[in-house]
Order: sequence, then structure tokens, then C-alpha cells
Amino acid sequence: MTADAERALLAQAIATVPKAELHCHYMGTVRHATLVEIAGATGIELPPSCRDGYRFASFPEFLEVFDTAGRAITREEDLARVAYEALEDGLNDANVIHRELHVEVQAHVRAGVPFRRVLDGVTAGIRRAHRTLGVTSRVLVALDRGTTSAEEAVEFVKQTVDYGDELVCGLALSGAEGDGPPERFAAAFQLAEREGLRRANHVCEDNQSIERAPAANYLTSRDLLRCERYDHGNNLVSDPEVLAEAARDGAVFNVVTFTSAEGRRASRRASIRVMKDAGLRLTVNSDDPAMFGVTVRDCYQTLFDESGWGLHELREMIENGFEASWLSETERRAALARVDAAFTALA
Ligand SMILES: [Zn+2]
Repeated sequence: MTADAERALLAQAIATVPKAELHCHYMGTVRHATLVEIAGATGIELPPSCRDGYRFASFPEFLEVFDTAGRAITREEDLARVAYEALEDGLNDANVIHRELHVEVQAHVRAGVPFRRVLDGVTAGIRRAHRTLGVTSRVLVALDRGTTSAEEAVEFVKQTVDYGDELVCGLALSGAEGDGPPERFAAAFQLAEREGLRRANHVCEDNQSIERAPAANYLTSRDLLRCERYDHGNNLVSDPEVLAEAARDGAVFNVVTFTSAEGRRASRRASIRVMKDAGLRLTVNSDDPAMFGVTVRDCYQTLFDESGWGLHELREMIENGFEASWLSETERRAALARVDAAFTALA
């Protein structure tokens, strides 16, 4: 096969093979037009950073967009609509048939929405998407690590357990690690494990210095929080010993191709290649696709174009996505069979 034909086949596979996405923030998926419409209806004024499209130049401005969206999206039907559209967009863009959503519940709770109503809205949207589009999803209650105390985190876990919906199955931490180191959340994560919740965490994210997001955060998240998978992980490359240990653990890292800061994108992708070479199990993710102005397809295509990876690596990463997902065993097996059929049909 010529190099051109190989590239075309890879692009076709990236667009069409069924995928799971495990690291995607609910709020980061909000279509700009949807935000404008909802903010108009709920009387929230949009700041310049999200008035005419999403335009933020820095991490604080990005957080301002996030905060504004949280204050605007408060009605149950709007919460449901955003979840539905997140799943619809993933499906249309790159055949994402399973998308797990980090829901920053506190962003809505701070705006006066009861915890249960946030989840009622989100799960209603997911169930509608399941019925009409055939896609699946799970919710991770993602706590704002910078502003949440150890005690508050335990309370959120209790509320999540009381909510008692199988779709709301995970606990995660969002935000800057330096502002909320993993050890603060040990009691919350241990309670989550006892109560049967699944656990993930942003660790070693390269939006911060190595001192603020050190490789050791992987070890703490593994041993103290007993996380089952990890988001980002780029700063791990600063410590070859911990990197090798993570590879021996068979840990799954949900890496993200793009970031809110354009200047950091090349170094991020270079670190992803080091992670892959070290033997880590990776999945490819969009994080905040609408707000970054990227699609899942872009995330795969850019990463694969730059690394020279081919169909073999693509299949491995797509399979990692379903294997590390929190689907039931039956759902997981059915999805992996679809992946197998799609790759077989390509060849
Ligand atoms: Zn994230």
C-alpha cells in the first residue's frame, strides 16, 4: 500500500471506528450557540471571553467561561440538552458511541441549583441520547479540587451515593492540582470505593509546573485515592522511575491532544509520545472540545499525524478506551466486538 493510501485508511478509521471517550468535561462540550441561547433565556450576561464564540487567552479566562456556563445552565431542561448534545456531537464527529462526562456539579450548585437537579437534568439528557441515538455514557462527579475541603468532598460523595443512579458511577477531581493536592481527598475517595463508586483523577497535568503537579501525584492517586485511571499525566515524563512504574502497573492514562494554551500544545504532544514509548496504556481525548474549538477527530488526527502512529496504535488506543470505561461487562464486550468488526471491514 502506498503512503497516501495508508494515510487515507487511517483517516477513515479515525472518523468511523466506534470509540469511547473517557476524559471530557460536560461543560467543555457546550456548543457556543447553545450557551448564547440558554444565557439569553436565563438572563446571564456573557463576558467578552464567550460573547462571540469562545475566545480566551489564558487559563483564568478559560475558567471565567466555565463559570459563566455554570451560572447560565441551571434549568433541568437545559442541563439535559447540553448532555444530549455532548453525546450527539461525539457520535457525529468521530463515531464516539460511549462518552463519559466529568460533571462539575459545584459550578451549578453555586448558582443555586440543587445537587439532585443537576444530576436529574444530565441523566435525563443521557437517557434521551441512549434512546434516540443508541449511544451510552456515564457521569463522573468532578469536584473542584482548588476550592473543596476534605470534609466537603466527603459530603459530595455521600450525596452521590444517596442519588443512587447507575449512570452516576464515578468520582473525579478537576482543576489545578497545585491548589488541591490528591492527599486532601483521601477520605472522600476511600468512602467512594467502599460505596462502589469508580475513581479517576487529573494527575501530573502539564498546565502547571512539575513542582505543583509532580510525578508523585500519580503514586498518591494510586495508593491513597485508589484511582482506576488517570487523566493527562504529562508531567510523569519528568521522572523516568515513576513513569516506568506506571507502565508496570498497566495504568491507563487519558491523554489530551490540545490545551487551552496554544503555546503548550507541541510540548504536550511530545510528552504523549514519550508516555507511549514508555509503555503506558493511552486513550485519546478532547477534554473541552467546544471550548477549545476542536473535535475528537482532530484530537486523533493531529496526534497520529505528528507521531507517525498507524492503524495498529489506533486500534490499541480505541480498545483501551472501552476496556477502561465504566460500561457493564456485557456492554463493553459488545462495543469491542463492534470495534473488531469495523477494523476488519477496513482491511
Ligand atoms: Zn480535564
